[in-house]
Amino acid sequence: MKNLIQQLTEISSPSGREQNIRQAITDHIRPYVDQVQVDALGNIIAYKKGSGGKKLLLDAHMDEIGFMVSHIDDHGFIRVEPVGGHMPLRMPNQRIRFEHGAIGCFFYESEELSKHLADYQQVTFDRLFVDIGAGTKNEALSRVRIGESATFHPLFHDMGGKVMAKAMDDRIGCAIIIELLRQCSTPWYDLYLVFAVQEEVGLVGATTAAYGVHPDLAIALDVTSTGFRDLPKGLKRIPMKLGDGPAIKIQDRSMIADARLNQWIAQTAEEHHIPYQYEVLPFGGTDGGAIQTTKTGVITTTLSIPTRYIHSPCEMIDINDVHHTVQLLSHIVKKPFDS
Ligand SMILES: [Zn+2]
Repeated sequence: MKNLIQQLTEISSPSGREQNIRQAITDHIRPYVDQVQVDALGNIIAYKKGSGGKKLLLDAHMDEIGFMVSHIDDHGFIRVEPVGGHMPLRMPNQRIRFEHGAIGCFFYESEELSKHLADYQQVTFDRLFVDIGAGTKNEALSRVRIGESATFHPLFHDMGGKVMAKAMDDRIGCAIIIELLRQCSTPWYDLYLVFAVQEEVGLVGATTAAYGVHPDLAIALDVTSTGFRDLPKGLKRIPMKLGDGPAIKIQDRSMIADARLNQWIAQTAEEHHIPYQYEVLPFGGTDGGAIQTTKTGVITTTLSIPTRYIHSPCEMIDINDVHHTVQLLSHIVKKPFDS
């Protein structure tokens, strides 16, 4: 499992540039499904026939947050636009990797010694630039093009019980679906496995994929934040914690999850002695929010993997939460939900 997580998180595929991750995921799932399709937006929609005749959509988004080159100045310094939600304060001194392999690091404009710290504290993408070590515009242009994408430089680290990497959001969801397919024989549901594009820029891929499938039930897999029970002086409004099991989404800014489906999932977890926690998140959203409002509506929830330092190069998860999520899903796909 850790090898799979390493492989998926080391691929750079920000929103709208998912071709590399799409290829890797397709290679992994092809032996275990009846059909693999790629739609017009680039979503993978795989199908595995079940015995019960109802459709269950499992979704994980395969894009990650990143950057897009907008301008290169006469000295070869690069300006980028954020792709997805970034905190500018986290950027200075971070390494990034461009689509064609160039490596650079962020720094920020600051002209006066007395304001150096204040400039850092108020840094925005207006004042951030990327240095790839080029001396001139032409030298930079020989390595990086306008419109080229970039992501955080990948540095996977196995810490024993925990694992740290960029793009755990949401390659961990992708890895869980792949592992589920490896483990599960014939499901009760007809499974539609969606690896969605462009979640980080507005739940784009899941919107069209869910419309095409129009499932009876849907579960999105994504990461969620942790707070005061997990970190020194962590956020008081966030009780989720690494190691306490998958988090059943109750509410975030994109959705109020289906309460009957949540209850059924919690019961299933209890029957099989799988730990779980509940998630009420005061911000953020997942593909579940887009899937829920498709066509005449879809019974939808999200299972979240508690993750520290989301949208940074150091996204950290507990490997037991991953195993427990796979275990829980392997029971869910075999059992009809009666609303
Ligand atoms: Zn995200």
